[in-house]
Amino acid sequence: MGNESINWDTLGFDYIKTDKRYLAHWRNGEWEKGALTDDNQLHISEGSTALHYGQQCFEGLKAYRCKDGSINLFRPDQNALRMQRSCDRLLMPGVSIEQFIEACKEVVKANERFIPPYGTGGALYLRPFVIGVGDNIGVRTAPEFIFSVFCIPVGAYFKGGMKPHKFLISTYDRAAPQGTGAAKVGGNYAASLLPGKKAKEKGFADCIYLDPLTHTKIEEVGSANFFAITKDDKFVTPKSPSVLPGITRLSLIELAKSRLGLEVVEGDVYIDKLGDFKEAGACGTAAVITPIGGIEYQDKLNVFYSETEVGPVTQRLYNELTGIQKGDVEAPEGWIVKV
Ligand SMILES: *Cc1c(COP(=O)(O)O)cnc(C)c1O
Repeated sequence: MGNESINWDTLGFDYIKTDKRYLAHWRNGEWEKGALTDDNQLHISEGSTALHYGQQCFEGLKAYRCKDGSINLFRPDQNALRMQRSCDRLLMPGVSIEQFIEACKEVVKANERFIPPYGTGGALYLRPFVIGVGDNIGVRTAPEFIFSVFCIPVGAYFKGGMKPHKFLISTYDRAAPQGTGAAKVGGNYAASLLPGKKAKEKGFADCIYLDPLTHTKIEEVGSANFFAITKDDKFVTPKSPSVLPGITRLSLIELAKSRLGLEVVEGDVYIDKLGDFKEAGACGTAAVITPIGGIEYQDKLNVFYSETEVGPVTQRLYNELTGIQKGDVEAPEGWIVKV
């Protein structure tokens, strides 16, 4: 079953209306079974808490076509668990791991013709979300909720191979010290639109956020996590209650240890210690690994491995991760769920 209208080579990260999406309502204290629908429009009350008070959260994961034609989901249980934590933080009812994974599988199967072929570097991006809906105006949790999963085919993040990018340290914060930084909620993204736009206008790929309490430590790279390789070969990544616990980050920590034999340090990444690093990168489901060629801070550009070449450790981590995702490299136990 092909798809003649899509050019897999030029595919980017844009909304495309695919055939089916999953929709379930939470009413009378429980999630209903849910079903696939053709309709990509939501019909919700004008008083929905998602619209006024930001009561919503989302996830992002990918389905990959393997060489043998089978389809891989990468660690969907981790996305399910994270969505439960995001729901807890915003007083929304969590979705069970089983219902979450089943919804993802149904959406992938129903949109199989949109999965980019093996070898194109593309994937089917899944966007699960939970929103507060129903008639309401006061600041309180919603009377009803919607859990939905839709999908879009996305192309390789870098056409023609990975390339390093430059980032700018922002003077804005995306989250508060004891706020919602660790939850995947839209409010954090709304707060990041202006700083991101300003960084891009200055010619940077995105901005980097420092810790909101002291502004001395790196926390996030736009909407991706930060990692670096020290000159003595340690894998370093920030740990903080306002960092979003990425599944790519978690996976790289495990691969750095088990497959590359690197020591891993989760802790403070001080902005005045960038000279300790020989390589740096941003990681996330959408960006996979984006090598960081340089970081500008207080008008000074700190260059890592190279402004144009990808460092060898970053390249090995990338090969290992993407090899596992598309089924070419043996996965650690439980990482791959077949659709
Ligand atoms: C989603 C997200 C990430 C990356 O998480 P993955 O699970 O690796 O996709 C990192 N930072 C922020 C702020 C995010 O929202």
